[in-house]
Amino acid sequence: MQRVLELDITKDFLDKIDKNAYDILSKWNGSKEVTNDEKLADLVGQKVTIVRSTLNKLSFRGIVKYEKEKDQKSGWYNFYWSVDLKKLATLISQEHLERKAKLGDKLRLLTEYDYFTCKNLCNEIPFEIAAEYDFTCPHCNQNLILIDKKSRSINIASEITNIENDLEFIKKLYL
Ligand SMILES: [Zn+2]
Repeated sequence: MQRVLELDITKDFLDKIDKNAYDILSKWNGSKEVTNDEKLADLVGQKVTIVRSTLNKLSFRGIVKYEKEKDQKSGWYNFYWSVDLKKLATLISQEHLERKAKLGDKLRLLTEYDYFTCKNLCNEIPFEIAAEYDFTCPHCNQNLILIDKKSRSINIASEITNIENDLEFIKKLYL
């Protein structure tokens, strides 16, 4: 059930939430294990406060859940955390579907319009805007050159295929 963590997009997705999120989830033993903040902090070699902050961000998105239990002696609450990998898989599917829709739009636009980019590939800029910039990249000042529609379209199509494969993989595992 850990396998959603094998996808490249999963690491990118988790890195955007918190830089420790991927590390914590991938080291979390077996994902079904319920554990507390201290044990997780030991597991990843981070301070408890840092791990808690990551867990709170993940919890906000429903990727981890907690139950709290009052310690009868101290009166403090203990938090027991568990992972919801199905929720993570669902969020990643949504992100992928949005990306797929954007790539589909891009593919359609490429057949109708000319796009330009620089050798550093900062951005893809339509003709009218490239002309306004005098065919100089606004980010790196390199020349803007016409994008080869055919090879760019092939790239986008293969990106879409990769996304579809990931979606199929997630569907088989979780949905
Ligand atoms: Zn540039």
